[in-house]
Amino acid sequence: MIRMSAELIAPCGMNCALCSRYQDWVRNQWTLTPCRGCRNDNKKCWALKRYCRHLREGDCSYCFECGEFPCERLQRLDRRFRKQYHLSVIDTLLRIRDVGVERFLEAQREQWRCPQCGGVLCVQTGTCTVCGGAGRTGPR
Ligand SMILES: [Zn+2]
Repeated sequence: MIRMSAELIAPCGMNCALCSRYQDWVRNQWTLTPCRGCRNDNKKCWALKRYCRHLREGDCSYCFECGEFPCERLQRLDRRFRKQYHLSVIDTLLRIRDVGVERFLEAQREQWRCPQCGGVLCVQTGTCTVCGGAGRTGPR
């Protein structure tokens, strides 16, 4: 069972609990490349760390703490995620900055709960990996 928690929120704002790779790990499905989450696997940020000194050296826990926020690379990631998953990591980061990670998580648990079984929906597919339900449609 997936439990959303602060350590599952990557520095870039991605909620790893929604990611198919993390969900695969929780469900012991070794079909793709399972992942325990960016923070738990100490990736810091799979997308940006390689290019970002701040993330590599652990200067920032979240990208919004950075003086360069939102940098060009994060903006590029944001565009990609909005296009592919209807999800803005920059909006997410601003939300976490404004309300704190715990309140953000409460809202996420509601937003991504499968209406059929109460499981956590997958951001890549928009469906529930527990019951296979269609989940939700439209912007997430
Ligand atoms: Zn479900």
